[in-house]
Amino acid sequence: MNSKYEVVIGLEVHVQLTTATKIFCGCSTAFGGEPNSQTCPVCLGLPGALPVLNEKVVEYAIRTGLATGCAIAPRSIFARKNYFYPDLPKGYQISQFELPICEHGRLDIETEKGGAKTVGITRIHMEEDAGKLVHGDSPDTAGHSFADLNRACTPLLEIVSEPDMRSADEAIAYLKKLHQIVVYLGVCDGSMEQGSFRCDANVSIRPWNQKELGTRAELKNINSFRFIKQAIEYEVERQAEILDEGGRVIQETRLFDSSNGTTRSMRGKEEAHDYRYFPDPDLVPLVVSEEWIERVRGELPELPEAKLERFVREYGLPRYDAEVLCADRAVADYFDAVVERHANPKACANWVMGEVKRRLNEEAIAISSAPVSAPLLAGLLARIDDNTISGKIAKTVFEEMWKSGEEADAIIEEKGLKQVTDTGAIETIVDAVIAANPSQVEQFRGGKEKLIGFFVGQVMKESRGKANPGTVNELLMKKLKG
Ligand SMILES: [Zn+2]
Repeated sequence: MNSKYEVVIGLEVHVQLTTATKIFCGCSTAFGGEPNSQTCPVCLGLPGALPVLNEKVVEYAIRTGLATGCAIAPRSIFARKNYFYPDLPKGYQISQFELPICEHGRLDIETEKGGAKTVGITRIHMEEDAGKLVHGDSPDTAGHSFADLNRACTPLLEIVSEPDMRSADEAIAYLKKLHQIVVYLGVCDGSMEQGSFRCDANVSIRPWNQKELGTRAELKNINSFRFIKQAIEYEVERQAEILDEGGRVIQETRLFDSSNGTTRSMRGKEEAHDYRYFPDPDLVPLVVSEEWIERVRGELPELPEAKLERFVREYGLPRYDAEVLCADRAVADYFDAVVERHANPKACANWVMGEVKRRLNEEAIAISSAPVSAPLLAGLLARIDDNTISGKIAKTVFEEMWKSGEEADAIIEEKGLKQVTDTGAIETIVDAVIAANPSQVEQFRGGKEKLIGFFVGQVMKESRGKANPGTVNELLMKKLKG
């Protein structure tokens, strides 16, 4: 990357909220319905229809504001942002402008190169989404576009950061942290493919000794962490080339093209005054009481950092394990539920991070759909710790549990997988193995004691893995040396 310039990045993230209904009407927010099946006079923008604010949206905004250290405004205002587009039937979007519900927050991030730093959050405001245009691609529909207004009026939070990030890596660290927080808070499902968490990046560069910000380009249409990194890096190079050649960067909105990793000009960037914002006369000012804020604060779930610290402190887990487990709240909750029933945190962590995650990845399913629930896994781990089965046999049992959803005990019983601890039975096998391998016995007695591994292996094989390894070792040493 060109090092003559300092890179300056600010991010605007749109978070789609998980409320069951839209922000100003009772229509469903479910994804993937028949076009225009989830609409009513309010979200269709029919004349005379009046918006009614969804209380849940306000609560989610307060929750997000508190989790990011924002001040919650006791009084905020909805405003009309006026522009024309066919997916916006009212001709304006209801948003917040001068008095947003949350301001002055912060998020701590960490990157390998930049270390730890704090990124300021300028504001968080509530707004409605627009509908979407579907472009015809069959012989009948080619050249036509259709408006689907199911998404119109879907509640969004727009989270605007300060221009505090200095590299694509810092931007990604910020986005991942924010993504983790809104999913932990339960206000967003986090799906980037479905557009529930999307980001516009404002990118500019300036010579290192320059105080004022350079002219920025706003990058739109980026729907994965990888693409955001690509888009920013491409944009920095593009702007550096312009400045190197003595040119001037123009303020504009640029679209990211994921097919070749470049950005291209979409339109000149509007200024706020182009939108003719004014307070929406159909909505009264929103008043949030101190009691309401305190109630929401009291109900905040444990956030990622607090959970991670608890896993290290209370469970004695290595920090690495805690980070892996806490990356996804559902995985962390599953782990908590296993430990609650089987008080051996490190063993539980190994199984969740190992076998459970491996199977989830293989089948590309979420932990909430895992056939082996937390209580079932705890039941299996109990049988390892009380020596009913070995760790190796446990993997076979786990595989069976995954297929059938049965309890470990039932499978161990049914398949006869109980570890043999009965000395008599093991002794019979040990004797047979010694009798069958006279030359190895001779070498062992001649000083080649490493061969003990061979004998243990033979006995375990004969017992189909069920002999207690400790007993096997003990008996072999006694008989070979005796
Ligand atoms: Zn509606």
